[in-house]
Amino acid sequence: MKLHILRCGSMRVSPDVPCGSGSELGGALRQHLTPTQKRVELPVLCFLLEHPRGPILVDTGWCRDISPAGVYDQAAVRQVLPGRLAAFYRPVLPAGMAVHEQLAALGIRAQDLAAVLLTHLDPDHVAGLKHVRAARDVVLPEDEYFWSCRAVYKARQPQSLWIDQPIRRVFYRGSPLGPNHWAIDLFGDESVQMVNVPGHTDGQAAVLIQNGKRFVLLAADAAFSPRNWREDITPGFGFDREQQRKSLRWLRQMAEDPACAGVLCSHDPELTPGAMEF
Ligand SMILES: [Zn+2]
Repeated sequence: MKLHILRCGSMRVSPDVPCGSGSELGGALRQHLTPTQKRVELPVLCFLLEHPRGPILVDTGWCRDISPAGVYDQAAVRQVLPGRLAAFYRPVLPAGMAVHEQLAALGIRAQDLAAVLLTHLDPDHVAGLKHVRAARDVVLPEDEYFWSCRAVYKARQPQSLWIDQPIRRVFYRGSPLGPNHWAIDLFGDESVQMVNVPGHTDGQAAVLIQNGKRFVLLAADAAFSPRNWREDITPGFGFDREQQRKSLRWLRQMAEDPACAGVLCSHDPELTPGAMEF
């Protein structure tokens, strides 16, 4: 199978976001105050899988409205994200990098997509959904949708980006996979499974793609880079630190499996956009 790594913009965030061990979760609420010069630039990655059932997109990155001219535009960002979130992310989406622009460059229309899988509802993962809403299916774990009622997610996950989109909510079921043994087997053949990796959010899914004996795991924001599981450092932007640790342990176990062709994180600056086959 062929997997494309698409960089759908970037965000400039506090260094505590990717590696936050030792900081209290309350600190996450102040991360939007970090001065620009102390911030780190992280990619916002989406993934496109060439699957026998058709192309499958995992997450959707930023929407074009956030950077109409392809440069950082504070006023435009504030039209899409409320003030504190706009300051937290400082997002930018250069020309040609919106998800639908990249799909068009690959000759794929939104309606050609067999599925769009949403790992969770944070804006850097769902803002671009409006560009690909014509996909044949858009899947979100029911748990992620359900817990969006919590005050913390109401602040993190602006409903305007997803509430009116044609999302199909699917329940996790018992599975040998994941820290909590919960997964969604998309086609019933184990080729694409959304595995619950909570901590960053309650309902967050990693996406496990299997081809014969080899697999790739898309970790979403359960880790921001391999450093998180190699050095046992939890990311600093999350909801439940214990669950984050549990999810990280599972990622490490998967990464050490000889069948693993890669564990890829949504904001890993070391990941080079392009295609990989496994
Ligand atoms: Zn993210």
